[in-house]
Amino acid sequence: MPPRNPDLRREQSHHPREFADFVYAYPVVSRRSGGVSIGVNLNLDKFCNFDCPYCQVDRTVPKPKQAISVPAIRAELEKLLSTFDAEGVCRLARFAAIPDADKRLKDIAISGDGEPTMIPEFAEVGAMLAALQASRPELDFKLVLITNSTLLDRKIVLEGIGHLLSRKGEVWAKLDAGTEEWYQKINVSRVSLDKVEANLIRLGESHPFKIQSLFCGLDGVDPSRAELDAYLERLRRVKASGASILEVQLHTLARKPAQASCTPVTGGFLQDLRSRIESAIGVPAMVYGMET
Ligand code: SF4
Repeated sequence: MPPRNPDLRREQSHHPREFADFVYAYPVVSRRSGGVSIGVNLNLDKFCNFDCPYCQVDRTVPKPKQAISVPAIRAELEKLLSTFDAEGVCRLARFAAIPDADKRLKDIAISGDGEPTMIPEFAEVGAMLAALQASRPELDFKLVLITNSTLLDRKIVLEGIGHLLSRKGEVWAKLDAGTEEWYQKINVSRVSLDKVEANLIRLGESHPFKIQSLFCGLDGVDPSRAELDAYLERLRRVKASGASILEVQLHTLARKPAQASCTPVTGGFLQDLRSRIESAIGVPAMVYGMET
């Protein structure tokens, strides 16, 4: 059910990636996190090796390549963490109208305007976040990486993930398709879908993770039954490899996509898929971000 409080509803459906004069960090009230999530944008240049038509990042306005500063990221995060009281409730004026129960700190999430694992400083960022988390034990929050799964075989990426998961962390790894054909329409990448699957299997050798899957229609056509069968088959193979898939998060468009050709699927579509994942694959699945 959507929240009754209009301020909470507005904050949950509008996630600006700008905050004050900050460059990297921005607080949002997140339905999926169940409270406040502090986003960290590691891709100031908006660079991504996917070109998803449903992406909300406006790449028609390019940004120059920019090196990131890990100390500057930490300084912004420390300023934001200082706005939480002893109960972990955010006291930013911007969230004043939201009930305390809905504005507790839940996580710091690496996401942003592109694929965060592409940056060379990724392992360093992971280590900094783990140290920051350890320095604030009174604030019980997770570290979350949201990734498109294409670079999970890189040593520095696995090293960074190791830091994030060393205390309390999660990886949300994208898998939006079952066939290469649909994948090239919905994610558009030079990295093959087989490679994405192999990366999930590789990640599963050392770390548990969640899978995040977005389904939407393209040019008026929803993913077919054969497409969903192929998607389930990929999930089955990843699980059979021994990977610990903690959850499959299913969602559809929640905000305005880059291309108007994308349309949300129905709640019924996602609920049917959710029950197929649970019964056929034996992995918990959740539908996020819509009334179902
Ligand atoms: S992977 Fe994420 S950031 Fe990259 S194009 Fe797709 S939705 Fe946008």
